[in-house]
Amino acid sequence: MGLFEQSQIPLKAAIKAMKLDPGAAAIVEHPERLLEVSIPVKMDDGHVEVFTGYRCQHSTVMGPAKGGVRYHQNVNADEVRTLAFWMSCKCAVAGLPYGGGKGGIIVDVSKLSERELEALTRGYIDKIAFFIGEKLDIPAPDMNTNAKIMGWMMDEYSKIKGQFEPGFITGKDLSVGGSLGRTAATGRGVVTAGVEALKVKKINPKKATCAVQGFGNVGSWTAKLAHDAGLKVVAVSDVYGAIYNAKGIDPYDLEAHVKKTGSVTKYKGSKAISNEELLELDVNILFPCAMEGQITKANAAKIKAKIICEGANGPTTPDADKILDKKGILLIPDILANGGGVTVSYFEWVQNLYRYFWSEEEVIEKQTALMVKAFKEVYELSKEYKVSMRVAAYISALSRITKAMKNRGQF
Ligand code: NAD
Repeated sequence: MGLFEQSQIPLKAAIKAMKLDPGAAAIVEHPERLLEVSIPVKMDDGHVEVFTGYRCQHSTVMGPAKGGVRYHQNVNADEVRTLAFWMSCKCAVAGLPYGGGKGGIIVDVSKLSERELEALTRGYIDKIAFFIGEKLDIPAPDMNTNAKIMGWMMDEYSKIKGQFEPGFITGKDLSVGGSLGRTAATGRGVVTAGVEALKVKKINPKKATCAVQGFGNVGSWTAKLAHDAGLKVVAVSDVYGAIYNAKGIDPYDLEAHVKKTGSVTKYKGSKAISNEELLELDVNILFPCAMEGQITKANAAKIKAKIICEGANGPTTPDADKILDKKGILLIPDILANGGGVTVSYFEWVQNLYRYFWSEEEVIEKQTALMVKAFKEVYELSKEYKVSMRVAAYISALSRITKAMKNRGQF
């Protein structure tokens, strides 16, 4: 099932459960705008190559569109508009004054030199500059884009506007207006949601065990902050394999091992297991933090975790959702669990608008408060409507978005 079809299943379930006005549902099902651009780049050998890029604004009803820019060979218009829709929902669940957007360029970054990558980035901004802005649409990093690329985008956009423009983009380096606490933010939110889920299940975090799939930005911070919260991290994986130690793994020490060897595998005192085995471990919380489509109808019945807290986007397929629901597993969906990143991006934007910067403690305190509030709201909705946390998260998002639409007279 493609990403778009997958995104429609919980959306339709939420529309049905909340008996949403059909006009409002039809508006939400369509993006407001989708722009396709052609970006010519003079390559290092002198020939010109033309790349295709996109920017989609799914919704701007509650504020500027917000969402990352992805550089990948599989980027396409359908993917971009689905991801933009997810961003509208993620921002609404977190209670942020934003709509949802997403961008992307069809490119294999491993084939570009640094100069070509910079030329492509600047060319993309030249083509979409009229479409974005701090009050209109605010990009950020996504797959294969990072703080350095955000810096080039910020520089190009500032040149076009003829003035310093940090607030039109987030995920920047601190020297050009980035926020403290951004790097750890997604993992921090995932752990906050996981700890709230443990409270629901009446499990003491200090006695809880967890397994983390993926050890990149989200996975490594999830493992470290779960460890800090008192959970025992018994298994971790990356694309090369998984490791297990019933006595617990110190993720900080594991990180040093990864820096030296490039992988979590062969970590001292641990046993090698497969990624499939990691997903099926008998732990209190499973944190899938790698990529989409990891828990499917093929393995869902074998999952033994009491709670699944989705750090990655779309790690569970709709078929698997049904099976997990029947098993009574408490699943904290991606649009709630991994909203910490966009929440601190919002803080970065606020700080840019004010030209006044907060301490890391202030960022963490504000992020945690918003995350706990969002979790409680979604949990209450799941009880009220007798639906899963995933459908409840969509009900939360749709209620906010359509209330703003109603009050703006759109239906
Ligand atoms: P990343 O590239 O930093 O890390 C991905 C990790 O997953 C790596 O350790 C990689 O080795 C591992 N991995 C890849 N395939 C795997 C497999 N089959 N089995 C086990 N491990 C595998 O990416 P990231 O930024 O940590 O993002 C991870 C997920 O979280 C993605 O779905 C992303 O969309 C989502 N997400 C990221 C952020 C963020 O702020 N970075 C925010 C929200 C959602």
